[in-house]
Amino acid sequence: MLEKLKVKITQFMEGRYGIDQLYMASIALYFVLALIQLYAQLPLVDLLLTAFFVWIFYRVLSKNLKARYAENEKFLAFTGKVMKRVNPVWQRIRDVRKYRYRKCPECGVTLRLPVKRGTHTTNCPKCKHRFEVKIRV
Ligand SMILES: [Zn+2]
Repeated sequence: MLEKLKVKITQFMEGRYGIDQLYMASIALYFVLALIQLYAQLPLVDLLLTAFFVWIFYRVLSKNLKARYAENEKFLAFTGKVMKRVNPVWQRIRDVRKYRYRKCPECGVTLRLPVKRGTHTTNCPKCKHRFEVKIRV
């Protein structure tokens, strides 16, 4: 019984796009928005959420693989750009106990310095400029 269903699903999905990163992000966003809507009960949002849900599964069941692949590539390029900005911030938050980040006044490169309270001199590894660094906390 279960095997037959598995075969039928496999046959049905043959030639269809299936799931990708855009699907995963969309479905997560859908559930977050649906949860908010459950409490907010805003007019028209139910309709928009339904349209969003239909669009998500339209992509999964689509046979236009090239177009869906291109959409996913655009999505990945966008999230890549976002992560490029978010990752350094996240890194600083993780390193807050061990390191402080200071910019070289000469070339502008960011240096990761170990936490040593007080005023110190440091060398920029890129331009070899020597400058003072104050670490208070
Ligand atoms: Zn420098």
